[in-house]
Amino acid sequence: MSLPSQADILRALGGVVIPDTSDNIVQAGMVSAISVHDGEGGSEPQIQLVIEIDPAMGERIEVIRQSALAQVKSATGIGNVSVIMTAHRGSPSVASSKKAAADQPASPPELPQGVKTIIAVASAKGGVGKSTTAVNLALALYASGLSVGILDADVHGPSIPRLMNLREEMEQNEAGLLIPHEAMGIAAMSIGLLVPEEAPVIWRGPMIHGALKQMLHQVDWGQRDVLILDMPPGTGDVPLSIAQHVPLTGAVIVSTPQDLALQDVRKGVAMFAKMGVPLMGMIENMSSFECPHCHGMTPIFGHGGARVDAERMGIPFLGHMPLAMALRESSDAGAPVVHADPEGSYAQLYKEMAATLRGKMGLT
Ligand code: ADP
Repeated sequence: MSLPSQADILRALGGVVIPDTSDNIVQAGMVSAISVHDGEGGSEPQIQLVIEIDPAMGERIEVIRQSALAQVKSATGIGNVSVIMTAHRGSPSVASSKKAAADQPASPPELPQGVKTIIAVASAKGGVGKSTTAVNLALALYASGLSVGILDADVHGPSIPRLMNLREEMEQNEAGLLIPHEAMGIAAMSIGLLVPEEAPVIWRGPMIHGALKQMLHQVDWGQRDVLILDMPPGTGDVPLSIAQHVPLTGAVIVSTPQDLALQDVRKGVAMFAKMGVPLMGMIENMSSFECPHCHGMTPIFGHGGARVDAERMGIPFLGHMPLAMALRESSDAGAPVVHADPEGSYAQLYKEMAATLRGKMGLT
């Protein structure tokens, strides 16, 4: 059976009329994301939808959900369809019915309920090991006795589900809050749980904004000393969107030695400075190559300059991590090294970085 395209599904969703109006949910801009997940190993394909609703719609929300399920199932013949409803304050129905409210200045960003601090882990570009670092730092902070959450906000390449071996289903509690996955002692959420990593996704600006808001504020985080945010690489809209939703306690920048000198890193630094977010540290990843046979270190890109560069930019240097086969293997196998080999040398390096970061956060 060939998989339906996103256009096919969008067409089916055009048949979902908002009760008491003549609009359908596609016209009203309520469809946030559509993903089609090919069934692996002969299992049934899966369709996931994210629909933004205005909480004021009350009972009509369930009518919309049921109608979306029915329309998509009958148009595609696929039975495994899930719909996630996200509340979005700027949704069209609110904007039109409460114009006065829209003219008010936006409310100041607040920490998600139960969360004491938020640290953004960022990088100038993809593939430098930002997510690997974010997960291991989170685990090292947890090992130091803190209660920790991690949120994968990398909308364009969410990798936390793979790195932490998370399942794709997402559940909501009775209050309608999403329940994070509990993995290795850490509460983990990923935008990749709304949309599987390998599935095609359409994201429009307002959709990203709505989804990020939901992942931050409509999640049952419990009590967390720190929430680690795995940011998308670069300086796009997402960091700005996040800063509108939550106050960031600080940011950590991950860079490889060859990128450190690049303008992009400075742009990232400037972006956080402009947002008023303190830079709490720079981490040099893949700093020297560790031979998997003799464990000798080769500083392929030069080594040691990171500390100088970071300090020149006025950023504390948290430490460096070698480019090592074991690190790649463990993180790609869903067993990050701080959890899989807590007494090993890499775990010790991450724990030292976490201890320094913890000091900077005032969480001693
Ligand atoms: P990003 O989040 O910056 O895109 P990832 O954390 O997904 O980067 O890492 C990209 C790839 O590099 C992954 O395969 C990961 O396992 C690997 N990797 C990250 N850091 C290291 C390291 N220090 N040594 C070896 N491999 C690494």
